[in-house]
Amino acid sequence: MHLARIPRRHYTDGRTPIEPLPRLSEHLGGPDIYIKRDDLLGLSSGGNKTRKLEFLMADALAQGADTIITTGAVQSNHCRLTLSAAVKEGLKCHLLLEERVEGSYDENSSGNNLLFRLLGAESISVVPGGSDLMAGMEEIAEQVRQRGGTPYIVPGGGSNALGALGYVACAEEILAQSFEASLPIDHVVCSSGSGGTHAGLVAGFHGNQSGIPVTGISVRAESAPQASKLHALANETARLAGADREVPAEAFTVDDGYVGPGYSLPTREMTAAIQTFARLEGILLDPVYTGKTAAGLIGLVQQGHFATDSNVLFIHTGGSPALYAYPDAVLATDGA
Ligand SMILES: *Cc1c(COP(=O)(O)O)cnc(C)c1O
Repeated sequence: MHLARIPRRHYTDGRTPIEPLPRLSEHLGGPDIYIKRDDLLGLSSGGNKTRKLEFLMADALAQGADTIITTGAVQSNHCRLTLSAAVKEGLKCHLLLEERVEGSYDENSSGNNLLFRLLGAESISVVPGGSDLMAGMEEIAEQVRQRGGTPYIVPGGGSNALGALGYVACAEEILAQSFEASLPIDHVVCSSGSGGTHAGLVAGFHGNQSGIPVTGISVRAESAPQASKLHALANETARLAGADREVPAEAFTVDDGYVGPGYSLPTREMTAAIQTFARLEGILLDPVYTGKTAAGLIGLVQQGHFATDSNVLFIHTGGSPALYAYPDAVLATDGA
């Protein structure tokens, strides 16, 4: 795989740190836990979408786009970062928000929603959960064309093969950092949502024959359909990156035991994980993705899933602006 052949914009200066979490590791009494600080990536308040957007925005610019259209949930980090990238490139940006939880959109809510308005989205439209989002974005694209503009659609979560290349790059970055620090990583744990992060990491680790297993903690879908979606996306991504070997289906492990009642709906384990990371390590997670993923990490450690002499790397995919939109869930007293 040779990613330098693929056009890319640069939104982060250098690598994100890998840091030890000694107080959390001691508290849990399991393996040594490390964190990949992708919450410190570039663009407005960082997060995993920044890596995907480096490739997606390069493609948009190559196609002469002047307007970006994308979609996400009402507190979407992806929409915030896509809008931020568009601002940086001098492009307009329209957001199509999916109200996955009925009644959850509030024009005046805080968190990412406040930032959509601050960053100057060209338009924000809201549709009910389950709507045909691609059709909705195509409609906006048609309106842009009628006004003489050139639209570019970024899929939800930035999770097509081009976007997932960002996490092939992250896998290669992790391998380089672990070599330099003489820190053999035995296992990686990440969020599994629209899938570009999980699929890209697996494609990257597999394509480099590193043998590092990845466990994805689902934030929405059930394990089986999520794993088959990831398998298809990872192979498309690997082909685009120039890999000459298929990623086998067995490479995809999805744990759907931490979703709770549904996407973005709080769970006790999520609240406890957010409070534990904040109070032991000063790390801010988010209620929708990394809080549930950290709950999964903690659950796996408690089940004895990892050898106590192993090194486990947790990917912090960002999202902390959403904390401010869910104060009750974040501070619930039955959490910790
Ligand atoms: C989008 C997102 C994820 C999930 O990543 P996917 O590539 O969509 O699976 C995880 N964490 C945060 C903070 C996100 O915004």
